[in-house]
Amino acid sequence: MDDTIVAMATAMGETSIHILRLSGSISGNIIEKCFEPRNMKRWSLKENFSLNLGIFRDEEKVLDEVLVGRMLSPSSYTGEDVYEINCHGGTYVAQRILQACIRHGAKLAEPGEFSKRAFLNGKMDLVQAEAVIDLISSRTETAANLALNQLSGGLSRRILNLREKILEIFAFIEAGIDFPEDDVETLDRENLRARVNEALVDSNHLLAGSRTGKIIRDGLLTVIVGRPNVGKSSLLNALLREERAIVTDIPGTTRDEIRESVSVGGILLKLVDTAGICESNDLVERLGIERTWNALLKAELILLVVQANLPLTKDELYILNVYAEKVIVVVNKIDLLENEIIVSDYNNAHWIPFSVLQHKGFEELEVQIQSRVYQGDAVLTSDSLLSNVRQISALERCDSALKQASESIESGMPWDILSIDLREALHHVSEITGHDVQESLLEDIFSRFCIGK
Ligand code: GDP
Ligand code: ZN
Repeated sequence: MDDTIVAMATAMGETSIHILRLSGSISGNIIEKCFEPRNMKRWSLKENFSLNLGIFRDEEKVLDEVLVGRMLSPSSYTGEDVYEINCHGGTYVAQRILQACIRHGAKLAEPGEFSKRAFLNGKMDLVQAEAVIDLISSRTETAANLALNQLSGGLSRRILNLREKILEIFAFIEAGIDFPEDDVETLDRENLRARVNEALVDSNHLLAGSRTGKIIRDGLLTVIVGRPNVGKSSLLNALLREERAIVTDIPGTTRDEIRESVSVGGILLKLVDTAGICESNDLVERLGIERTWNALLKAELILLVVQANLPLTKDELYILNVYAEKVIVVVNKIDLLENEIIVSDYNNAHWIPFSVLQHKGFEELEVQIQSRVYQGDAVLTSDSLLSNVRQISALERCDSALKQASESIESGMPWDILSIDLREALHHVSEITGHDVQESLLEDIFSRFCIGK
């Protein structure tokens, strides 16, 4: 933490500009040695934030004309003195500037080290830090909005609120242990029960929304399944809005699972196109079918494509029976129907009249997928939802410790037993934001960042 660190914040290679980042106590000295600002008067003012044009020199040799952003402690990303050098985007120049900084005493930053310093200096908590990675890797607007909300502290406030409640209960119990007076005992137990239940309401609320949050962040593993020639590849292609899978009139030509991702109604569907389910003597085809059945097991959403003018097959009925709750039936080729009547009831699974050819049914598919993701009180806009698996599992452990405490109160357990449950709950809720966290976990989290972040 005492070191001054430097890194390229932009990806290596030829580009329009490169940005190098310096953070730490001697970053100012390093800059003074190499940077000659054009406007010396302004530079000498040492404002908290400034952007300065000038010359970057190393050993008397002019390397580039650069823009130096100065963000002084504590008003910077890391909380330390931070300088950002914007130079021209050649690899040579950027490398020379990097080397110059190192020669003058900076250390090459490790992945995520800037963000780790920001965390250690209290500029952001772990929920916000993990939101930074999520924002970078988000592929839909919904996912980006969610990460942005978490980054701005919306979710942290909800978690801290819960933590505050647990802390108060903990203090209450500790006081109860210190002064065990029998006449106040019953009254206190009632009070305690109410407080624990209140905390449980909060944690249940957060957990309920986390299912939605996780889907927004990670997407839904989606299988498109159906017998040959019903229009699976056509549907996939229409969703991708470009021809990536092979569309053909010959039954059974899609032999490989094709993995693509597509955003439908703001939800990322990780798509698997499968070989058609049908009797087949072809070995490759048969292997493909085997994979289909495995894929159905793992799928979070099944788009069962059937043909409107044909009766259901044994396989289609089987899928409807076994996986009803995760199936949406795409009743394709309604354009081929004489009259608009569809006879099957599709085993009460949700079905949508569809024609990929005439572009009918896509809006309803969007709405149906959204309604499956946004349940209960999880709002379509960027509500402060939990979405990160690490955070969710910490909250689950906090929640079960609270439930345990609640049961202990019911069964009249002594206060020091309750204290153990509450300590457990407090530990896990604190893990989420990083108020109570082990160094190995920090390393694990920040090593997933890129260098310079
Ligand atoms: P797959 O074997 O299930 O992947 O089916 P394909 O997507 O390869 O489509 C098989 C045939 O059905 C192609 O000739 C498509 O043009 C045709 N098809 C797909 N959707 C529709 C539709 O909505 N209406 C009609 N009439 N034909 C369609
Ligand atoms: Zn196909």
